[in-house]
Amino acid sequence: MNSAQFQSAAASTTSGIRITSVRIHKLSAPLKERFGWSLNWTSLRTATLVEVRTDCGITGWGDGEASEDLLLSHPDLILGRSPFEAEAIYEDLRALPGKQERPGPSRCGGLDTALWDVMGQALGLPVSRLLGSQYRSAVRPYCTAMYRKDWPDLAEGLCEEALSWKKQGFRTLKMKIGYSPELDLRIVRAVREAIGPETGLAVDANCAYTVGTAQALGRQLEDENLLWWEEPIMANDLAGYARLRQHLRIPLAGGETLPADDLIRDYIQPRLVDILQPEVEIIGLTGARRITQLCWLNHIQLVPHNWGTAVRTAAILQWMATVQPLTPALDACPTTFEFDQTESPFRDAVVENAFHLDADGTIPIPQSPGIGVRVIPDAVAQFCKQLIEIK
Ligand SMILES: [Mg+2]
Repeated sequence: MNSAQFQSAAASTTSGIRITSVRIHKLSAPLKERFGWSLNWTSLRTATLVEVRTDCGITGWGDGEASEDLLLSHPDLILGRSPFEAEAIYEDLRALPGKQERPGPSRCGGLDTALWDVMGQALGLPVSRLLGSQYRSAVRPYCTAMYRKDWPDLAEGLCEEALSWKKQGFRTLKMKIGYSPELDLRIVRAVREAIGPETGLAVDANCAYTVGTAQALGRQLEDENLLWWEEPIMANDLAGYARLRQHLRIPLAGGETLPADDLIRDYIQPRLVDILQPEVEIIGLTGARRITQLCWLNHIQLVPHNWGTAVRTAAILQWMATVQPLTPALDACPTTFEFDQTESPFRDAVVENAFHLDADGTIPIPQSPGIGVRVIPDAVAQFCKQLIEIK
């Protein structure tokens, strides 16, 4: 097929496809060992997978929110439409149904990702090719693990765990803090000493502190050569973030719980943080595409949050291919994203081709059509505790 024939075929494909149903799979599974962070303990993992079916036989998958309450009451917002209207659907799903009021931001990242997966498959292209230019073919992720467990000595348990991740090829680790300033200092110092100066270390307090306490603790953590401090204070304490950014030598990171509109208005435009951590579960690839350009223009590093299944990791990898470097340096400002390594019975089980580190510590970005994972419907069904169908 020559290029004109391909474009003609693609045009007829894209105009002809219609969405016939949306299936929202709510997954849940118990853990062998509970773990905790500053806000809670859990013995359970949960996730939401969104499956979009079309009349041409293509099925797309996404991991994250789907605005299902709105879709159930207004199925015409999605059924019968072309998946190539993803951006218009994203806008139509703004949360408040009243036309008189200003609508709220979209929280439909799983549904939106599934639409991009359909588009990529229909065109025979990886989603990264649809999102933007290709800046890389692999990404070096950082390791998320090192939660609180029922260890007799937290510092000792964390040091042992940190060394095992280092041995498995991770060059950057993130550990949870936010327990108390005294305990945080003790465990961060112990882990830094155990892993040595050459391994990257970041900390995440999950909004544990008030700004005064965070500032005092941050001053003491400055000596531990941290890559970033994630959510030291409440996400809506914007003045607090501005104060910390002015007074601490540790780069600040945040944004994992917010929709794209809030990230743009409160975090990106005022350059509130050094590192933005958007969550595809919420903002989808439509929101990701918007944020990518705005972060680049505002000199903010993008390091996506990631807490779900390999379907979400696939979407993030497609996105990461298109993130323009912030500086021309070869290695000084590496692109990275969160690679969750905590226990999850279904994270990898729901796909045929789960992601693992290559020998050089990177993960190749899938080049197959769509987001690049092959979902196993039977495995999804095995962990599904609730199925919501819009058809
Ligand atoms: Mg976090």
